[in-house]
Amino acid sequence: MNTVDLHLHSTYSDGTYTPAELIHMAEMKGMEAIGITDHDTINHIKEVHKLGAKAKLRDVLAGVEVSAEFSSGTMHIVGYFVDPDNTDLCDMLNRFTAGRSERNPQIIEKLNALGVSITYDEVLKEANGASVGRPHIANVMVQKGAVRSMKEAFDKYLAKGAPAYVNRTRASSEKIIAVIKKAGGVSFLAHPRQLGVGKKKELERIVARLADEGLDGIEAYSSSHTREDVHRYEGLAQKYQLLLSGGSDFHGLGKEHIVLGFVGAGVTLSYDIIKKMKERIKVQ
Ligand code: AMP
Ligand code: ZN
Ligand code: FE
Ligand code: FE
Repeated sequence: MNTVDLHLHSTYSDGTYTPAELIHMAEMKGMEAIGITDHDTINHIKEVHKLGAKAKLRDVLAGVEVSAEFSSGTMHIVGYFVDPDNTDLCDMLNRFTAGRSERNPQIIEKLNALGVSITYDEVLKEANGASVGRPHIANVMVQKGAVRSMKEAFDKYLAKGAPAYVNRTRASSEKIIAVIKKAGGVSFLAHPRQLGVGKKKELERIVARLADEGLDGIEAYSSSHTREDVHRYEGLAQKYQLLLSGGSDFHGLGKEHIVLGFVGAGVTLSYDIIKKMKERIKVQ
């Protein structure tokens, strides 16, 4: 069984379990190390550090998964070991939060115009203080019977290119990588498959650019990656001297097909991944 999973979401973003619940579940599974990497927020970090120190796990990493500007698919960059009090990091994420607060009511307006009657208040209530995202909007749509599932909410309304989609504030990969470094952390390209780049040459061009911008590693192992994907990402990591990492992208009940600890068929990660991150920070 794989016992290292460095990409989990908690109730601080769009996961359904609290950091304490995630840690408890990992303990019950006999895991060695986990990383809690909420979207565009660092509000969970101090709590995760505190809980992690008492946990029956070798290590509990607190990270942040930052949304980068990217034209086609999705580019997410995960930062581990960041200082949650770093001004540059706080400023960048505050700008993201402001962007979300502007975007979310616009999505609701579009939904209303399309005949889906939900309110922003209902969405805020659903998010319950977390960083508000489209999954919260989708949940309200399901609860009110506008759609049958989260998938239908995204496919019909909320996905990029669908009629209620509204873009939100992000930052360039260059800026995100620089800010993570300034905050004392290491940066990883999350689940590269979600870039939606099928062509080998194009993918390599992107990875080369990110490496040039100071990226530390690639999340080569993810629940969504095929063996062929993994092979390709390992090759790129070696070529561009990038570290390797892996995680399931577990969100709890919101995405029930993703299992805590599963990072790809037959893949088991070693604690060395974390050791190498720590070494990289020391030499910086
Ligand atoms: P937001 O942060 O509001 O832009 O929403 C991003 C969240 O929505 C992430 O957790 C994604 O995994 C989730 N998401 C994006 N596209 C889809 C989709 N087509 N189906 C289900 N969830 C999605
Ligand atoms: Zn998410
Ligand atoms: Fe992601
Ligand atoms: Fe994620």
